[in-house]
Amino acid sequence: MAKADTEFVFAPVAPVVLAVAGREAVFPVHRIYCIGRNYAAHAREMGHDPDREPPFFFQKAADDLTGAGFMHYPAETAELHFEIEMVAALGEGGERIAVEDALGKVFGYGVGLDMTRRDLQGEAKKMGRPWDTGKSFAEAAPCSRIVPVSACGHPAGGAITLDVNGARRQTGDLNEMIWSVAEQIATLSRFFVLRPGDLIFTGTPAGVGAVQRGDRMVGEVEGVGLLEVEVV
Ligand code: MN
Repeated sequence: MAKADTEFVFAPVAPVVLAVAGREAVFPVHRIYCIGRNYAAHAREMGHDPDREPPFFFQKAADDLTGAGFMHYPAETAELHFEIEMVAALGEGGERIAVEDALGKVFGYGVGLDMTRRDLQGEAKKMGRPWDTGKSFAEAAPCSRIVPVSACGHPAGGAITLDVNGARRQTGDLNEMIWSVAEQIATLSRFFVLRPGDLIFTGTPAGVGAVQRGDRMVGEVEGVGLLEVEVV
């Protein structure tokens, strides 16, 4: 890590940050972890048996985040899919965190979109290759401001929805998660050193589908807030 007086050969990229509801201070983002197939109905729509799979995770780059309210249609895809997700934002990290201690590491929650180049992801799955080109690209992770736990608690139930151009496309309830937020943190911390600033995209309910330029997505997580993103 750089010290306060480190001299760089060129200016480093500025840290990625998210706004925090009710605070001037912003949330500095470290990594973005995402869980796969965490709602049974979505696992089924992707052709998998939700009962038999232990949780698995992939990452997006921190600078895939955007809080701008719009995203550019990405390169090299003809199938850009939305996945509305609740985002858990860690204020503390750790390794081998017990499930009972996990929620104590959460600073707050947000509303995110795990945008996916589904055609590239599908090709990668077929070839047994990594998912990175399907999942991690510029503006692949639109995210709302973070609401501190002091304001929203730890949402374990409530509607999670996504509308596209005013029509309901995704709907589910946070209580349908196969692996809870606490279980996700505990599992991730066995494989990775979690850090303050890590975000966890906690999975999407059924109904994923494609958007085009000009489409307007409005996601909502009950008790956390709204996320509005236009594809441009
Ligand atoms: Mn997802």
